[in-house]
Amino acid sequence: MKQSQTEINDKTNKLSENSRLYQEAIEDLLFWYDQNHRILPWRDEPTPYHVFLSEIMLQQTRVEAVRGYYARFLSELPTLRDLAEAKEEKLLKLWEGLGYYSRVRNMQKAAKEVMEKYNGEMPADYEKLRTLPGIGDYTAGAISSIAFSLPYPAVDGNVLRVMSRLIKNEADISKEQTKKTLREDLKAIMPSRPGDFNQSLMELGATVCLPNGKPLCDRCPLSHRCIAFHEGKETILPVKQKKKERRVERRNVFLIQLNEKTILHKRSAKGLLAGLFELPEEKGEPEEGEKWIEKLRLSFPEKITISKKETAKHIFSHVEWQMTGYRVEITGDEETIWNRLWPYLLCLYRSEEEESSFLVTDREKLENEYTIPSAFTEITKKLWKEKGGTKNENRTRL
Ligand code: SF4
Repeated sequence: MKQSQTEINDKTNKLSENSRLYQEAIEDLLFWYDQNHRILPWRDEPTPYHVFLSEIMLQQTRVEAVRGYYARFLSELPTLRDLAEAKEEKLLKLWEGLGYYSRVRNMQKAAKEVMEKYNGEMPADYEKLRTLPGIGDYTAGAISSIAFSLPYPAVDGNVLRVMSRLIKNEADISKEQTKKTLREDLKAIMPSRPGDFNQSLMELGATVCLPNGKPLCDRCPLSHRCIAFHEGKETILPVKQKKKERRVERRNVFLIQLNEKTILHKRSAKGLLAGLFELPEEKGEPEEGEKWIEKLRLSFPEKITISKKETAKHIFSHVEWQMTGYRVEITGDEETIWNRLWPYLLCLYRSEEEESSFLVTDREKLENEYTIPSAFTEITKKLWKEKGGTKNENRTRL
């Protein structure tokens, strides 16, 4: 039903001051978005599944990097049903390199729930979407508005930054209350194109109102009304509490080749990088790694070559891994070697793991079937570097 002018005026009068300022920017934003938005594959056909997939991928990765992952994922799993029925190994392989594997596992749980409860159709209902595994306020808002044209905001870091600068809001954007208030203020003024409005904010934040003190205000459609810009505060907003310093963890990583095959270990089902494969490794100082290597050398005196020692690091949000890696080659009868070797491998895991969590694989399978988290990419690459480079590079005996 069409609203009367009186009803519109009443509604406007009840808006908070912030909502009113946001409302005044809508037209400029939509006009700018229509002229300037990037052509992205998930914008071609914004079905609920496509929006869901792209939003989860984009939460952790740059747009350019997501393009390839998105295309590959959809060509393997074109429908929500395919996602619900996919084998976990396949799912993890498709996600390999994106990190945060719990997100793709949650996506599958959500897909299964949609198959069971909603007959395979994602519900056109913000509250119901919000109950699905892995779907928070942001993702529920993005799916509701972009795929179903429902009037819900989708507040991510880009939107928080743009809106904080626009109205010179000095509230800490890392606080849940700041996000909640912005969601409520935006919810009150959602226009008739909610999906485009949300995307215009995300797009402006991603391409113009850039983070880390580098907004391109001279190209911004909101510069004439942006309070932070007019007061010269665009580079100090938004306010964001500093994160705690990362803890440093030292680890030893072992590329062990048994007659050219490689030993992998499946991480435990809980905790960081749960259930993924890795080169055998342990938490410990480099000296502990050298001691372990020494024990191995004594146990296989004629059959072992220890040919490389490398270092690499990987940064997670809360911890930095500093890794020392070794390449070990052992030749001989596989079964005999394995029987002698696996007690040493168990030592790395403080004997809590079963022998069955290790496997021996050839390189083709290693690359095509098993998902090794990107935390190990750099060290693995360095250790793999084939023999044949300079002697110093590849044959540094320990
Ligand atoms: Fe951001 Fe500058 Fe635009 Fe303000 S004028 S919204 S600070 S880019």
